[in-house]
Amino acid sequence: MSTGSAACPCAVALYGYQHAPTEALTELYYCEECCSLRCNDCIAWEVSCTYCPHCLFEVPNTSVRAQKARCSRTCFECPMCMHVLSIVGSDPPRRDMPLTAPEASIGVEPFYLSCACCRWDSKRLGLVAEKPNDLGSVLDAMERSAWPTETWEHLVEHMLERRLPPPPPMSRSLAKHVARVERCPGLVRHDMARVSTLAQRWTVQPCEQSYAVSALRPRRVALQCKYSKRCATCRHILVRPEPRSSAFKIKLLASHFLPQCVVFRGAHGLWTLVLTNPLMDAMDVTLRCVAGDVSAQHIQVPAHVDVLDMDEDSGAPGSDWDAFQHGTKTHRNHAYLSVRVHPSTSVLVVQIQWQSAAYRPHTFWMHIPLS
Ligand SMILES: [Zn+2]
Ligand SMILES: [Zn+2]
Ligand SMILES: [Zn+2]
Ligand SMILES: [Zn+2]
Repeated sequence: MSTGSAACPCAVALYGYQHAPTEALTELYYCEECCSLRCNDCIAWEVSCTYCPHCLFEVPNTSVRAQKARCSRTCFECPMCMHVLSIVGSDPPRRDMPLTAPEASIGVEPFYLSCACCRWDSKRLGLVAEKPNDLGSVLDAMERSAWPTETWEHLVEHMLERRLPPPPPMSRSLAKHVARVERCPGLVRHDMARVSTLAQRWTVQPCEQSYAVSALRPRRVALQCKYSKRCATCRHILVRPEPRSSAFKIKLLASHFLPQCVVFRGAHGLWTLVLTNPLMDAMDVTLRCVAGDVSAQHIQVPAHVDVLDMDEDSGAPGSDWDAFQHGTKTHRNHAYLSVRVHPSTSVLVVQIQWQSAAYRPHTFWMHIPLS
């Protein structure tokens, strides 16, 4: 069984209908205003809201810049393995209490950050606080003292204004020295074990993280965005997420409108093409195969019926299904057609025009692999 994928008109215009890249209908959108398919390359993206992926707290757009796109609550990432850190308390001082006593499971100050994945903890940096919520301010103070942020920002502005010429190429003697150091594997291996990797430094400004692994500081979790998507031609909204939920207010996926195509290998060298109607109205479909003969060029696919409303008798295929070898047949919201293609054809290219009572005619190209 092979499922077809559709080509967006923007890709067809660039590459032609036979060579255009295709995507599944669940990856494409359908604009009801333009009556056209849209892909991620021909829509307009807008930031709908910004949130922390760990605590799911939504940050107002006006605060994102001030927070440097990082969560301002107690969400921190491990500097070694990038997992989210837990805030843990120290063990109680009295060790003679029974393990089942409630006091035995209460952490006391000082509180610190601990990674459950790689066992890193912030005590080695001196990052501890009397209250769990104070860890963020302790980290901020530590960063301010470790690196003169304001001076650095002024320096960057100054350098950008002056636009200094690029540095001169490496001199011959320096190049020789670098090559000699690189040829000495023992020295490099010994040093690299204690030097932080680029991935560990790159998560914040690389100059703000230490080269020494032992001095790497945890970072606040980076914020993420939910996007709204609009048709770039008519500005009709195609996707709009719910503000405080993982659901969507609007999501006009192409699979909710366009007929889906699936191909089975049939008897006598024929292929069976199955069209599925996702709409609540009957759909008129006109097919044009580029390199194949289809048993019917026009067919009406019945409306999609809710499973709860289905008649039990109509659910089971009748005995006349055994006789279906070529020709057409409709069953529930599916239409079955026979297709004869040349044995050397590997992809069935079909032009499909569909319309229903609620939707104007729309034509698109679908590629179905024959395998
Ligand atoms: Zn497109
Ligand atoms: Zn957070
Ligand atoms: Zn870790
Ligand atoms: Zn549109």
